[in-house]
Amino acid sequence: MVSARISNGRELPIGKILCIGRNYVDHIRELGNETPSAPVVFMKPASSVVADGGEVIIPAYSANCHHEAELALLVGERGKNIPEEKALAFIAGYGVAIDLTLRDVQDELKKKGLPWEIAKGFDTACPLSTFTPAEQVADPQQLTITMRVNGEERQKGSTALMINPTARLISHLSTIFTLEPGDIILTGTPAGVSRIVPGDTLEAEIERVATLRVSVR
Ligand code: ZN
Repeated sequence: MVSARISNGRELPIGKILCIGRNYVDHIRELGNETPSAPVVFMKPASSVVADGGEVIIPAYSANCHHEAELALLVGERGKNIPEEKALAFIAGYGVAIDLTLRDVQDELKKKGLPWEIAKGFDTACPLSTFTPAEQVADPQQLTITMRVNGEERQKGSTALMINPTARLISHLSTIFTLEPGDIILTGTPAGVSRIVPGDTLEAEIERVATLRVSVR
């Protein structure tokens, strides 16, 4: 079973991975999407997680795999219909994830109105860092996310620019899904997504919170 690790030694088996699409205006613009009236939600299976230091394998059915660096939340307590003002108390830790996306496959699925799992949930589609305990993060809306490929900066954004901030996402998601310890929420990506290829080294970072490094086979 795949586990999420917190730097204080706590470990939780990973449950569902809830992902938010289109949560930063600059990324919506770069893909030519419409700003959604409600958060766009999709899921990745726990089997898609690869830990820090691991290896990504791009599936043979895609020729265009993109990185999306994102703030990741680790749920620490069970909750349903959580009010926004209490939502942050349900987070056990903050980390960084790369929401790997087979953009060519996703574009075809979008055109046909089909679900995205084969573009977003394949094995190794979710590189995930160790989490920093939530009590060490003063404000999740004041974090800088950076993504580098082979040492070159591709994404840099602030969580201050989220359309739906962390607490609102948790509150909204908990009206649909009971949140449970070990669940993970990926909160969307800022602009700068780009293609990765075999041989690349991917580094995602949230300043003072988490770092993640994986290689692409
Ligand atoms: Zn994403």
